[in-house]
Amino acid sequence: MTRLLMPQVRERRTPTRVGRTYHLRTFGCQMNVHDSEGIAGLLEADGMVPASDPDTADLVVFNTCCIRENADDKLYGSLGMLKRTKDKRPEMLIAVGGCLAQKDRDLIHERAPWVDVVFGTHNLQRVVSLLDYAEEWGPITEILEESEAVAVVPAKREVAHSAWVTIMVGCDNSCTFCIVPSVRGGEISRRPGDVVREVQALANDGVVEVTLLGQNVNSYGRDLELGGHKALFADLLRRVGDVNGIHRIRYTSPHPKDFREDVAVAMAETPAVCEQLHMPLQSGSDRILAAMHRGYTAERFLAKLDLARRHMPGLALSTDIIVGFPGETDADFQFTLDVVAEAKFDSAFTFIYSPRPGTAAAEMVDEFLAPEVIQDRYQRLTERQTAIGLATNQMLVGETIEVLVDGVSKTDAAMCSGRTRTNKLVHFPAATAAGSFANVRIHRAAPHFLVGELA
Ligand code: SF4
Repeated sequence: MTRLLMPQVRERRTPTRVGRTYHLRTFGCQMNVHDSEGIAGLLEADGMVPASDPDTADLVVFNTCCIRENADDKLYGSLGMLKRTKDKRPEMLIAVGGCLAQKDRDLIHERAPWVDVVFGTHNLQRVVSLLDYAEEWGPITEILEESEAVAVVPAKREVAHSAWVTIMVGCDNSCTFCIVPSVRGGEISRRPGDVVREVQALANDGVVEVTLLGQNVNSYGRDLELGGHKALFADLLRRVGDVNGIHRIRYTSPHPKDFREDVAVAMAETPAVCEQLHMPLQSGSDRILAAMHRGYTAERFLAKLDLARRHMPGLALSTDIIVGFPGETDADFQFTLDVVAEAKFDSAFTFIYSPRPGTAAAEMVDEFLAPEVIQDRYQRLTERQTAIGLATNQMLVGETIEVLVDGVSKTDAAMCSGRTRTNKLVHFPAATAAGSFANVRIHRAAPHFLVGELA
């Protein structure tokens, strides 16, 4: 039932759903969270207001992900629960977008025919027009194979002082565990001038911190030819660093094989760029890295960390590690522990491998490991990393550090929380406004946060 939107459906210019409510649920990664900000921005530009309860909302949108485990179960479980509401209130609308929609396409309407709109990763900016169509003509699935450009829509930001800025979408790599290239397509970069204009507009709106977002930011600009030159990520960092009012710049995610010295130099020479780098290791075994198609060895990975640290002393490093990739032996896992010990990451996101349908690794069924073997390795890895994280944080006790305040702590109303330039979470007793900077003297360290008081 995949159809393209009929041309007679008009693009909206004035809000027509004023006062109607939407409930938006996001599954998955930061890219999806940012896409959801765009979807919310479009719905609110059409007059809608957010609602916390899907059972009473006029519209429920699921922005899906197929990267995380059991994504299908979560989506179809949620849709199943919503069917009762739709039976009682047939006028409500249900929309499903994002990576899983891009992958499953017509399957969503086959499994959940009560869904009104299915849209993919390349056409989220058309969500309002698709809702118009569904209200007038009935259910629609619109999946585009690729984007011609990065869609920029007015985002509804949850945090006033901090914003995500998409600089590119898609990925040209082929990591065997990852579904992203098939659901997000190849790399498309935004023109640097467009990125800088968006950052300037955000700064004018009170934003002091931006995170530049892409699946593989270090290959930013390879597809852009500007005045006979390729646009480079290093140049983009410098240009964003020149924007008045932006005090902190972060970016995610780089690929270790594409991280080069010009970027490390630009980071060091651009005062607003934070001393923080997320560099996904995935495995410390060269054999497993080759099976993953990662394009680097453990030695080259560590050399990249050295390069970055040489240019940016005090750099905090975080990483991603997959435990139990098909065929991983005890010896392979030991290599991972060895790299973790040598790299001394400040923090790590550790994942248990689980197959994603449609990826090459999901076909390696003969090499899947027993769950108890993976669980044991996972525990050993997290214990090792937790100890390293604690030791790294303990070195900060007694120091006074600048914190960008996020607001009142989620767990203790007497405390504020914020982030250091190195992206460490800090709690301190005060009533300091979100978006302001505070100097905090650290007196206690835990593996994943610091505690202090206003200096
Ligand atoms: S670099 Fe690899 S892991 Fe990252 S998005 Fe591309 S294919 Fe996926």
